[in-house]
Amino acid sequence: MNTQQAAQYLTPNYARFPITLVKGQGARLWDDAGKSYLDFVAGIAVNTLGHAHPALIKTITEQAVTMLHCSNLYFNPQQNELAKKLVELSGLGKTFFCNSGAEANEAAIKLARKFFFDKGERKYTIITALQSFHGRTMQTIAATGQDKVKEGFAPLPAGFTHVALNDLDALKAAIDDSTAAIMLEPLQGEGGVNLANVVYLEAVRALCDKHGILLIFDEIQTGIGRCGTMFAFEKAGVSPDIITLAKGLGGGVPIGAMLATNNVGKSFSAGSHGTTFGGNPMSCAVALTVLDVMEEEDLLNNVQARSAQLQTGLQKLVATYTIFEEVRGDGLLLGIKANIEVAPIINACLDNGLLVLAAGPQVLRFLPALNISEAEITEGLAILSKSIEGLNL
Ligand SMILES: *Cc1c(COP(=O)(O)O)cnc(C)c1O
Repeated sequence: MNTQQAAQYLTPNYARFPITLVKGQGARLWDDAGKSYLDFVAGIAVNTLGHAHPALIKTITEQAVTMLHCSNLYFNPQQNELAKKLVELSGLGKTFFCNSGAEANEAAIKLARKFFFDKGERKYTIITALQSFHGRTMQTIAATGQDKVKEGFAPLPAGFTHVALNDLDALKAAIDDSTAAIMLEPLQGEGGVNLANVVYLEAVRALCDKHGILLIFDEIQTGIGRCGTMFAFEKAGVSPDIITLAKGLGGGVPIGAMLATNNVGKSFSAGSHGTTFGGNPMSCAVALTVLDVMEEEDLLNNVQARSAQLQTGLQKLVATYTIFEEVRGDGLLLGIKANIEVAPIINACLDNGLLVLAAGPQVLRFLPALNISEAEITEGLAILSKSIEGLNL
């Protein structure tokens, strides 16, 4: 079936590239015509270990013959183990599992409101950043600080306000008696690869403590090693009350998680929240394997080394081409800001066998697997240069 025929049967909500991908191996993908692509997208920061990693194949195969699902009416060992591991890694206390990023943020928003309800306080407003991205459900589009995701979906759930990132005065001005939580991405992915300053995050934590407000970090894109530490918040040395995870956690198998401190997490009392698929043995076994392999293959160090290499290459492009303004981001969540629309560059890269993505109209974004090699980064940079040269910009 060609891509035009496929479009006949799908809702047109994705502006897809006209290729059909059929298989992957390591940092490479192949389309149905046999053409290969070097993958600097990793399924939007999902394929932490690249494609077809032997450890994931083994875990998925073993779990498939053991038990795929049993619901949350009962305990299962994989969910118990993964919760313990994530609590140990994050320093938080309680874990709730779901199936996607938006669901993890829904859980965080509901938990923040329930926490204050349980204390008998009428606090419900969540403050988030402009240019943020928190998902596509009704609550999470209301939370998102970009109008483009909201158009056509009114009335939106109430109780969200947005302020400019890194503007402490704006944040102070937005806080009132109804403020329950401040929710931030330590590094905005979809919104243009915008980093929250460490001093800002420290001041936000202090503000939260002063006013009795919860601090939520949406680490759905930044978490699980993407920024060179297990969680991006570690770099700021600021500990949140709630974090949300998804994308890279399952290495390609859908899973989301919300972690909270013991004090906050206990407000998800029996019957207050839930999901049928969340924490199923398959997705939890896979996530445990992702975390094990990250440790065995020392991937946090690889992220730091490959990040430095990729940034050096991107800086050269900034020095060479006036269309590029700056390199942004951290770890292997990097962007290069242009003063033109980047779509033609992305299309030229696709033609030349490199997958890259955008973060807004003028930022090219690079999210390779965390085990990408030095040679593959070199190769990707060469394809990128060649693609830009070919456009005569
Ligand atoms: C991708 C993303 C989400 C939404 O995750 P889904 O799995 O698509 O629902 C939320 N927040 C951030 C920061 C993301 O990058």
